[in-house]
Amino acid sequence: MKKIVIANWKMKLGLTESVNLAKEYKEKFKDFDLGEVVICPDFVSLNEVGKTINGSSVSLGAQNVFWEDKGAYTGEVSARTLKEVGCRYVLIGHSERRQYLQENYEMIHKKIKEVLNQEGIVPVVCIGETAEERKTDKRDYVILEQLHQALSGIDIMGDQQIIVAYEPSWAIGTGTAIEPSEAEYAHKIIHLALGDLFDNRIVEKNIRIIYGASVSSKIVKDFAKLDNMHGLLVGTASLDSEEFYKIAQAIVE
Ligand code: PEP
Repeated sequence: MKKIVIANWKMKLGLTESVNLAKEYKEKFKDFDLGEVVICPDFVSLNEVGKTINGSSVSLGAQNVFWEDKGAYTGEVSARTLKEVGCRYVLIGHSERRQYLQENYEMIHKKIKEVLNQEGIVPVVCIGETAEERKTDKRDYVILEQLHQALSGIDIMGDQQIIVAYEPSWAIGTGTAIEPSEAEYAHKIIHLALGDLFDNRIVEKNIRIIYGASVSSKIVKDFAKLDNMHGLLVGTASLDSEEFYKIAQAIVE
């Protein structure tokens, strides 16, 4: 499986800004084929950004999804619609949604299930401990708990893919990534836990584990060669196409 680098633009850009940045991405990544590149604009910008990057090596992703296929769920967006506008990836359970939107284990589990029901769209399941959980030595427990709550009872069939994004939420948006050795340790735990949940062949063939939280081009090289490091989820640094390009190049080398 190729390494993957996902840009999470959060709620930081308007429609025109998103389209303009997508144009820059399209140009920068036109000869990039060693890894996969994904951009996740806000819902409103998905359609236009999708048209902008159509036919390029950059794929489209969404930042959230609802767990039902259709119905009276005001304000929500289905995986079916995300697919219709060309999304190939969707973030699920980002720590900002867990914190500000009260997204809980059940919601996250249902979202993953629904996305896997819609062929051709890959859930990017975000997990990671808070500062408090880390301080009180609960990191390993929290990682295992989040993973089990999200993925227990989920079947991965055929070529279906899942991405697990390890994002220590205390380091997100701070400008300071965690020590590479700490990320490697967390990825090892995730890899072992995935081995409890799925057949080993599925873990190797269908699941990627990526890191996210304050990655920049200055430190990315320290993360590139770690075990079980299959890519990155990038927030702040993804708003600068040149900086993001440097990060993507360094992680896939
Ligand atoms: C994120 O929120 O997913 C993220 C990685 O943000 P940042 O790179 O800004 O820490």
